[in-house]
Amino acid sequence: MRKFFTFFAISIFMLNACGPTLESSNENWKKNQEAMTQLKADYATFSPLIDQKLEEAKKVWDAAQGISNEEEKLDKMVEANQFLSSGAIGNLRNMKGKISDLKRKKESLMTMNVSNYQLEDRTQYAFESVKKSIKKAEKAMYMTKDEFNIDEAPGKLDRAFTGLTDAYKEVEIIIDLIDKENNKIAEEKKDKEQKVQDEKKKVEKAKADIKCAYCGTMNKAGSTKCSSCGAAIEKK
Ligand SMILES: [Zn+2]
Repeated sequence: MRKFFTFFAISIFMLNACGPTLESSNENWKKNQEAMTQLKADYATFSPLIDQKLEEAKKVWDAAQGISNEEEKLDKMVEANQFLSSGAIGNLRNMKGKISDLKRKKESLMTMNVSNYQLEDRTQYAFESVKKSIKKAEKAMYMTKDEFNIDEAPGKLDRAFTGLTDAYKEVEIIIDLIDKENNKIAEEKKDKEQKVQDEKKKVEKAKADIKCAYCGTMNKAGSTKCSSCGAAIEKK
């Protein structure tokens, strides 16, 4: 029972800490409005799409204001904000950051030491995908007014964003594989070195062993008497 209450208390705490509230939704709404002004300035071509989403969001937002049930009101407010932060608008807002993330990931792959030709091929192929996906994303983001079509633009942004995400995942996978491969090589090298060391020690030990002049038994270095016949062992 006590455990349950602890869990319950933590759940409430988490909800308060992470979940949206009326206050945070109001704050988000304000921020999103500002973000849309900036977005229109940055991507003037997309203004019609941004205006359309603003209008859709406003409708839902206004509807939310007339709801008295707090939970339902909050749901509507969250929904309104989503028009301006996810989907096509979200993709447009996040595209630049996504491209920089991908470039950074590619840079870290470039600094890696690839010692496996299959991984090297895959790396080269991934670099091509990175290049292509960035080109496609930039083409979508900076399409001309002639190229812009309000019905097709969201799909183009979505495909461009997915392309960046896929390229990022592939680079991430390759980095992981190279890491594993390099660790394996390092491990094998260490094993080999250890074996060489062990072998060396064995040889040295054998060298140090002393043969009894009487019975031929090998005695450990430093022995004064033969372990087999008891004869005194001469020091060399
Ligand atoms: Zn002996």
